Amino acid sequence: MIPFNKPGMVGPEMDYVREAVEHGHSSAKGPFSDRASNLLEQATGAADVLLTTSCTAALEMSAMLLDLQPGDRVIVPSFTFVTTALAFARQGAELVFADIEPNTLGIDPAHVAELIDERTRAVVPVHYAGVACDLDGLTDVLAENDHVTMVEDNAHGLFGEHRGRPLGSFGRFSTLSFHETKNFVCGEGGALVLNDPADVARAHIVYDKGTNRREFMLGQVDKYSWVDTGSSFGMSDLLAAFLFAQLEGKETVLARRKAVFDRYEAALAPHAERLGFRTPTVPDTATCAYHMFYILLEDRPTRDHLLTALGRSGFRATFHYVPLHDAAGAKAHRAVETDCPVTTDISGRLLRLPFYNDLPLSDVDRIADCVLETLTAHAG
Ligand SMILES: *Cc1c(COP(=O)(O)O)cnc(C)c1O
Repeated sequence: MIPFNKPGMVGPEMDYVREAVEHGHSSAKGPFSDRASNLLEQATGAADVLLTTSCTAALEMSAMLLDLQPGDRVIVPSFTFVTTALAFARQGAELVFADIEPNTLGIDPAHVAELIDERTRAVVPVHYAGVACDLDGLTDVLAENDHVTMVEDNAHGLFGEHRGRPLGSFGRFSTLSFHETKNFVCGEGGALVLNDPADVARAHIVYDKGTNRREFMLGQVDKYSWVDTGSSFGMSDLLAAFLFAQLEGKETVLARRKAVFDRYEAALAPHAERLGFRTPTVPDTATCAYHMFYILLEDRPTRDHLLTALGRSGFRATFHYVPLHDAAGAKAHRAVETDCPVTTDISGRLLRLPFYNDLPLSDVDRIADCVLETLTAHAG
């Protein structure tokens, strides 16, 4: 059986965890947290990076830092994970679901332009599969609407680029995930990337449970106390130790993932037109972060048939995402009903193939063969 995902290790993870335990500072903001956040700051050019318990927690922090008021609206793609939306709804925002464009499967700037009004406070693009969404289009729309903040949900895109600039450096905030299903893992974890230096002081207060503990640690005040809203968002240094080993090995991780991606592409793309499917589009302007490999089938019955056939052969493929705009949980938070036809269409036709660092290329070939044989038989 080939699983869909298998979190990999690059080498020194367990040594670093042991070191973190022996060091004695195992809570948040310990020595490994510093090293991991410095590495991420250098990679993204951020003003500061705060390691969190999850990407969801980082999205919630960004929602808190936006000081959303009743009636404020946040535009999110319908084609994303639940918490891209839920994190803002929890802070009281009304959600407006935007469609995606069929090329990158990222939020559609034209739809965003239609949906923006004076109540809109933020828009939250996702770089699906590690490929930049239409950032040129989105940046143009936001230039016309300077009351709207960009928060990038960069759960898929760490070390990806758009026109040579790192994904996660475009929004005022961006968020990362180190969940076991992502490119760089520590079980559960995330980060809030602060691109505006003006956010740093308050972000630390929100992160430090509403206290000015950071000012105290920096010797700026002689005691620390409750000063603002906040919660317990910090990643344990034990997990940061594991994560730091992964991030230090970023070249290895990215090279392995690229090799798997390229092998799928080489095996499948030559047959795509004939068999009526397509492989991922990576625009010339994008440097891919290689989060996944998906194919888009002709229609839902073909996708579902292939999913079953792969499963029977011992290959765990999966679908992605169940649209949010008409999900039961969205009803209470939706400002308006919107149509997201591309989301609904893509969601019914997309299939993700097994994808992880240590997936042997010979297994990629076997999976690709199974895809081609199944689709050939299905077409004939
Ligand atoms: C995985 C994911 C999240 C949630 O990440 P957690 O770290 O599990 O909270 C949010 N958004 C997107 C796009 C994701 O893929």
